[in-house]
Amino acid sequence: MTFSAFAALATKQALVPFVYEPAPLAAADVEVEISHCGICHSDLHLIDDDWSSSSYPLVPGHEIVGRVVAAGDDCMLAVGQRVGIGWQRSACLECEPCRAGHENLCATQQATCVGHMGGFARRIRTDGRFVFALPEALDAAAAAPLLCAGVTVFAPLRRWGIVNGSRVGVIGLGGLGHLALRFLRAMGAHVTAFTSSPDKRDDALRLGADAVASSVSPREIRGLKNQLDFLLCTVPARLDWVTYLQALKPNGVLCLVGAPPGLLQIPAAQLLTGQRAICGSDIGSPAAIREMLAFAAEHAIGAQVETAPMSEVNAALQRVRDNRVRYRMVLTN
Ligand code: NAP
Ligand code: ZN
Repeated sequence: MTFSAFAALATKQALVPFVYEPAPLAAADVEVEISHCGICHSDLHLIDDDWSSSSYPLVPGHEIVGRVVAAGDDCMLAVGQRVGIGWQRSACLECEPCRAGHENLCATQQATCVGHMGGFARRIRTDGRFVFALPEALDAAAAAPLLCAGVTVFAPLRRWGIVNGSRVGVIGLGGLGHLALRFLRAMGAHVTAFTSSPDKRDDALRLGADAVASSVSPREIRGLKNQLDFLLCTVPARLDWVTYLQALKPNGVLCLVGAPPGLLQIPAAQLLTGQRAICGSDIGSPAAIREMLAFAAEHAIGAQVETAPMSEVNAALQRVRDNRVRYRMVLTN
């Protein structure tokens, strides 16, 4: 038996059709016939080996929706069930973070498409304990990006106690950022969207922002001095962190989910004064994924997607690189 996929054979290369033999179906595994797979910016980081973690051939893709076609003896999922698969593939399930329900913080966790073949494919075999039943109310294409982008923005909003009336900034309106706006509107937060794309301003208001500012204008960011409880940064590039910290109220938090290159340079005084904090957030636990999917179904939240056939994966990847997608590219089989 073989699975058809698209793979990068070396760093920064275009993807090519690729066939591989899957590992035997283990007792906890499922085999899923993939209908949709979103393109996350992390797939570009992997293709480019930005994190020095990629191995080739590399089949990217970790925002997967499909139907179960086979289930191992110990797997709770049923053949025919519609499911979603995100970034995390497995964890030890025994360490302190795992036992506390923070499997996404397990030191031995594995990712769906790092050292394993991901979702730019017809089928995938993976650990069923990290595969999620999709609520019926969710459209498959709009739901696929929830599996990574969705939980990555939802989990920190829960962790940092964002509620009705919280004043929140979202930096970068791509796949992650636009979903953050939709979740935040449903949570009742007052939201300022920061974008480097002037043509996204109207969309930002429609998606859930109450105000819009330039993400790259220190003058506009300074205009929000001491106003925000929480800033969620989804941008994969360096920004003016010091000026952003000043937009936070005392005790405010700047949370990075985007992966900018290089070091963060922050004068200590910027953290001491006003007790502001800077932190990161890593996808979300399986429990957070389930809570996020239920919240999305309840509030009719999905991604705004562009779709393309899997065979056009390279053109689709280029649109993501060029920041032209509004707002998540989803490949279809
Ligand atoms: P995306 O769809 O490409 O969106 C990124 C957005 O950032 C762009 O749409 C753009 O928004 C803004 N941006 C890009 N380059 C910029 C620049 N040079 N200056 C200012 N703004 C810029 O990417 P994504 O899929 O949302 O992923 C974003 C980041 O999150 C990536 O680094 C990805 O690896 C990371 N990520 C992290 C996790 C985690 O667990 N922490 C999970 C998933 C993804 P505007 O046009 O509005 O400016
Ligand atoms: Zn992702």
